[in-house]
Amino acid sequence: MSQKPYRVLLYYNYVTIENPEEVTAEHKELCQELGLMGRILISSEGINGTCSGTIEQTDAYMEAMKNHPLFHDTVFKIDEADEHAFKKLKVKHRPELVTLRLEDDVDPHEITGKYLDPKDFYEQIQREDTIVLDARNDYEYDLGHFRGAIRPDIRNFRDLPEWVRENKELLGDKKIITYCTGGIRCEKFSGWLLKEGFEDVAQLHGGIVTYGQDPEVQGDLWDGQLYVFDERIAVPVNRKEHVVVGKDYFDGEPCERYVNCAHPPCNKKILCSEENEHKYMRSCSDECRRSEENRYIIEHGLTEEEVAERLAVIEAEKQTV
Ligand SMILES: [Zn+2]
Repeated sequence: MSQKPYRVLLYYNYVTIENPEEVTAEHKELCQELGLMGRILISSEGINGTCSGTIEQTDAYMEAMKNHPLFHDTVFKIDEADEHAFKKLKVKHRPELVTLRLEDDVDPHEITGKYLDPKDFYEQIQREDTIVLDARNDYEYDLGHFRGAIRPDIRNFRDLPEWVRENKELLGDKKIITYCTGGIRCEKFSGWLLKEGFEDVAQLHGGIVTYGQDPEVQGDLWDGQLYVFDERIAVPVNRKEHVVVGKDYFDGEPCERYVNCAHPPCNKKILCSEENEHKYMRSCSDECRRSEENRYIIEHGLTEEEVAERLAVIEAEKQTV
């Protein structure tokens, strides 16, 4: 198999850092020198990163991490790519690695759900006494998810604890298995579930990315695509079969193409075909379509008459439905 010239790395490491600001500045320098692009967050509780570079650049980075006093045991998920998956490099210091904003923070070194490798996860999610809970956001779930998984109705990870409290009846007293993209969110979330009183909690170790790369399970029981936080947006997981679960926001047809609502303060992620993007001026609602700051209208240089014409078409169709 021919190797692609670039790679995308995904990794995290929960490790106590005494001087996160200093470590962030050093790390930024390292990544700049290597020519990496991506988004790396560092806090007093560790590092969370995803970045892209050539094979040589990413090799050099992983080697530097292996020799790093804090990050030497970091596990990397590696995807091949045709080009950089990011346009910029951002290395930032943050108060939290993943934003849960809990009144009582969870340290995964102290409490976290049982780790399941892909094979165990594959077997256990098929059992009757088990609930599979997606620990990601609604728009991530809508593009793809494990068959039968519960979809929390949230747009931000920090809203997940409240959602669980309000939807306890969905979880009952069954075993709970959680999963997320690379595993970092589940480290905290599964720990939070245990603290919250759920007794039997497990998590997919290494996340969906690791599951998709596992030579044995090959992403089986995953439907749709995986939402990723880089320029690629959607990547495949299931190497045995591809079932499309995404639905066009406007007409409900099968769709795996995400755009952001053109009204800047909204910016909602909408699955839609190219045709519908133009028809609905890449906007999720009438309010967003009528916004003066609408990016679609500006990009396409639409005149007031042209906008009015399109609004009339949409309006006329609503009447006939
Ligand atoms: Zn909108």
